[in-house]
Amino acid sequence: MDCIFCKITSGELPATFVAESEHAVAFNDINPAQPVHVLIVPRVHYTDVAELAVANAEVLADLIQLGVSVAELKSTGSFRLQFNTGAEAGQTVFHAHGHITSRTPRV
Ligand code: 5GP
Ligand code: ZN
Repeated sequence: MDCIFCKITSGELPATFVAESEHAVAFNDINPAQPVHVLIVPRVHYTDVAELAVANAEVLADLIQLGVSVAELKSTGSFRLQFNTGAEAGQTVFHAHGHITSRTPRV
């Protein structure tokens, strides 16, 4: 399977990592939409968050906890956590991931 996020989580392709947990990694989005834009990505491949939620609630909880940690680290505490799910919702990478975005970076 030719999945760019599998290649990043395994270290085959580079990314700017900001945090990691048992089941997930967090790295900066290559094309940030806001001053803080970090992707939270499970180490194991699931197509989207809906598939992940059905398959493994432990990984989903770990992923969200990592996202909250990243938001606390990188922002002043106001942030969004968004999962684009399905092409018509704007999903372009079909390995489950959440976007942590914030207009108010911690400086
Ligand atoms: P989606 O549209 O699927 O919800 O989000 C995919 C995100 O992945 C986009 O915001 C895009 O900028 C980001 N992205 C795509 N390819 C790469 C990459 O190779 N490295 C990084 N760091 N981000 C990527
Ligand atoms: Zn993948």
